[in-house]
Amino acid sequence: MPIATAPQPVTRNPSKQIRESDAQGAHLDFNCITDEQFQIAADHMKLDKEIQLLLRTPYRELVVQIPVRMDDGHLEMFHGFRVQHNAVRGPYKGGIRYHPEVDLNEVRSLAALMTWKTAVVDVPFGGGKGGVSCDPTALSRHELQTLTRGFTQKIDMALGVYRDIVAPDAGTNAQVMAWIMDEYGKKHGYTPAIVTGKPVALGGSLGREEATGRGVMIILREACQAYGIDLKKARVAVQGFGNVGSWATRLVAELGAKVVAVSDLFGGIFQPEGLSIEKVLQHYKACGSVVGVPGTRAIDNEELLGLDVDILIPAAMGGAITGENASSVRAKMIIEGANSPVTPRADEALRTRGVRVIPDILANGGGVTVSYFEWVQNLQQFHWSHEKVNQELEERMVRAWRTVHARSVEERTPLRIAAYVEALHKVAEASRHRF
Ligand code: NAD
Repeated sequence: MPIATAPQPVTRNPSKQIRESDAQGAHLDFNCITDEQFQIAADHMKLDKEIQLLLRTPYRELVVQIPVRMDDGHLEMFHGFRVQHNAVRGPYKGGIRYHPEVDLNEVRSLAALMTWKTAVVDVPFGGGKGGVSCDPTALSRHELQTLTRGFTQKIDMALGVYRDIVAPDAGTNAQVMAWIMDEYGKKHGYTPAIVTGKPVALGGSLGREEATGRGVMIILREACQAYGIDLKKARVAVQGFGNVGSWATRLVAELGAKVVAVSDLFGGIFQPEGLSIEKVLQHYKACGSVVGVPGTRAIDNEELLGLDVDILIPAAMGGAITGENASSVRAKMIIEGANSPVTPRADEALRTRGVRVIPDILANGGGVTVSYFEWVQNLQQFHWSHEKVNQELEERMVRAWRTVHARSVEERTPLRIAAYVEALHKVAEASRHRF
């Protein structure tokens, strides 16, 4: 987990932006956002009302308290959540987020997104999500481990290899997954398939770390081809330089695109001639932030979103582009590396101006796809080569793109609605067989 010490975070929290600006007086939270997206698609496809009720209601919600004895001796109480949204197509599947803004509504919304995402990329999982309200960058390794083990004990009864499988998300990483696997194993015995995104030495899959970013790159490449954008001439800006953002940056640059700006919680950097990704990665490794790479101009996150680029990849947190700042976006295409970075009001505003938005449930589905491969490898105790993982990922992402794009053309709908309709059809069909 990168723990940054030098620069201070200066950006507003994007999730606060949603509640303040997009709500326009009314309370709008992440759950409202996914619910609104669901409703638009359900209305579009005239989905039966009873099926709608079944599909939008989470199956189970766990709220747990985790006491942690901190390094200085005082006791701190953390709040954790695991929401199991839907498992008609397979076990609940979804990451664990560590972030100060985590709450039940956010986790609920992310769990629903996982149900639609696993259906879009067609892996036999349902949707779930978990999180702990904490600032992982402010915790010592010992505190982080104690918190993780405590959280695992508290949600243990809901987990299972064929019931609910966890993975990394913002603020967690392979090390956190290793602690979860270890803690779960104390009670249930050796169970690598209970977590994905764990270290390769513990049964993790080759290619899992880069999988979400690689999926973003594949979908972006296909979208550029479909919409006549020459990726080799394209200028790209990426918000967020964690797992998803850093890998997307690297892989998109390898295809020949010019990445002119990247950012993280501490701010951004801009280089109109194109950044040297190697230099950015080295600087990030040494300093814990992209800010301060020699030869680059410092910009803030808001400026990055409004840069004159062809492609914008929001890969940080939800709610980055809202009804309030959508008019400043100059990119022709936005590909959602993060979950829910574009709110419904922003979606409308961007659509009116002809900006294409490639939705999260398609664009960042590479992570859960390789998580599925990891789970399969763990169940079989048989390891795949990196090439096989990448090749299978390539095939599945391209298939998902073609299916969603074809529906969007056929039904003259934006890609987000097409992706939701595709997902709702699959989950609804499975539900009808079960009920
Ligand atoms: P991460 O914790 O590895 O990285 C998050 C990055 O965003 C960091 O660089 C952080 O500094 C930056 N950031 C945080 N708040 C910011 C702000 N307010 N402004 C600008 N930058 C900010 O997280 P990640 O795993 O890369 O996840 C990023 C997003 O992608 C999340 O929305 C997550 O749900 C989604 N996602 C992740 C995966 C995965 O496999 N990790 C899969 C699908 C979707």
